[in-house]
Amino acid sequence: MNLKTRLNIALGACAVVAVLLAGLYMRGQLRERAMGEVQREAELHMEAATALRGYTAEHVRPLLNSDPAHFQVEAVPSFAATTAMTELHRRYPGVSYREVALNPTNPSNRATGIHAEIVEALRSTDAESVQRQTSENGQHMLYFAKPLKVKDSACLVCHSTPAAAPPAMLVAYGDQHGFGWKMGETVGAQIVSLPMTVPLERAQQSLWQFLAGACGVVLAVFLALNAMLRRVLLNPIASRHGELHRQAREDELTGAINRRGFLEAAESALTRAATCEEDLSLAMFDIDRFKQINDQHGHAAGDAVLREVVRRVHGRVRSSDLLGRLGGDEFALLLPDAAIEQARILCTMLHTTLQKEPYPHGEPVGISLGVAQWQRGEDLQALLGRADRALYEAKRNGRGRVTC
Ligand code: GH3
Ligand code: MG
Repeated sequence: MNLKTRLNIALGACAVVAVLLAGLYMRGQLRERAMGEVQREAELHMEAATALRGYTAEHVRPLLNSDPAHFQVEAVPSFAATTAMTELHRRYPGVSYREVALNPTNPSNRATGIHAEIVEALRSTDAESVQRQTSENGQHMLYFAKPLKVKDSACLVCHSTPAAAPPAMLVAYGDQHGFGWKMGETVGAQIVSLPMTVPLERAQQSLWQFLAGACGVVLAVFLALNAMLRRVLLNPIASRHGELHRQAREDELTGAINRRGFLEAAESALTRAATCEEDLSLAMFDIDRFKQINDQHGHAAGDAVLREVVRRVHGRVRSSDLLGRLGGDEFALLLPDAAIEQARILCTMLHTTLQKEPYPHGEPVGISLGVAQWQRGEDLQALLGRADRALYEAKRNGRGRVTC
């Protein structure tokens, strides 16, 4: 996997993690805000019901129930608050206000289910309020409750014993329920219930919008970062890498491929020839009596000869041919798609070119060439060995010749 791909994967992973973390944080925040809204609304409904209770107890009850023998249900705070809130909630679908008790005068106000659970919680904890959330058939509800405590002795007129209760109340509700209440006891609860589905859906919608925006921003940052890193980091590294790779395979003096580069390229060429069932030949050549040139004209002249040899070869061979300096004054020339006959013709022409004109030190030089055709199944070392033997033959037979 190259550096660019690895960097893209790392950047992509960071972007995904950033969006996920931001999404998780936002989800918490949005849900909290939605819950806060529902909570405030519930408190408002509770305040309204409590105010109605207070007004009834303070101003209505003294007027309607001054005579204990007579009982007017409209003067009962819970009845007034529940009736008025029911009227109000016609305009708030899903919202409800109930006053329930474990032992109510009116059996229809008996706490059951979640209501009973809430009353028990208020009785056992003595808390100012409790909250419960339920989820049924995809409908999320919030229950907000406050305890109904017997704080006023006037309450006990109706709820202590049937004997003390207004007869009219006994006629209306009988003498079986709603008695035995004690001062300070939590007998029931005011309960406001509100649907949370809409605010939660709104929060979810906001979350999707946030995620879409965040993805857009992260994508833009990703692309910008990618372009910047490519420009300031990856491209310079790639070109430096390419330069080092080229330097590692190039002979500094002549510009030909060095031994290592040549052997690598020759291995690939051999594989390609085997796969495509093509011919391939290899020539090895060496400057005759090169030591003498060095000795007579100096090392610099020798270097100039080496450079000129490479220049002449490059000017003569096909673009697909590959010249490598194996070391000292010894070179190899790979001839793809050439059988021995074609290789002989090419090497003979090359030999003429190399020997004909004088070199920078003013004299021509002799070159010996050994050529071999690759045989199917043969590896590179074997082919090099045969070309080297042909070169040796050329040297042995008097130098300055081509031996196939
Ligand atoms: P032969 O005909 O048998 O090849 O004789 P030769 O004198 O060319 O013998 P050989 O190939 O063994 O000698 C190679 C010489 O090349 C030996 C070394 O001093 C010289 N040489 C090797 N590398 C360089 C180089 O980079 N520059 C120069 N100027 N000389 C080099
Ligand atoms: Mg030599």
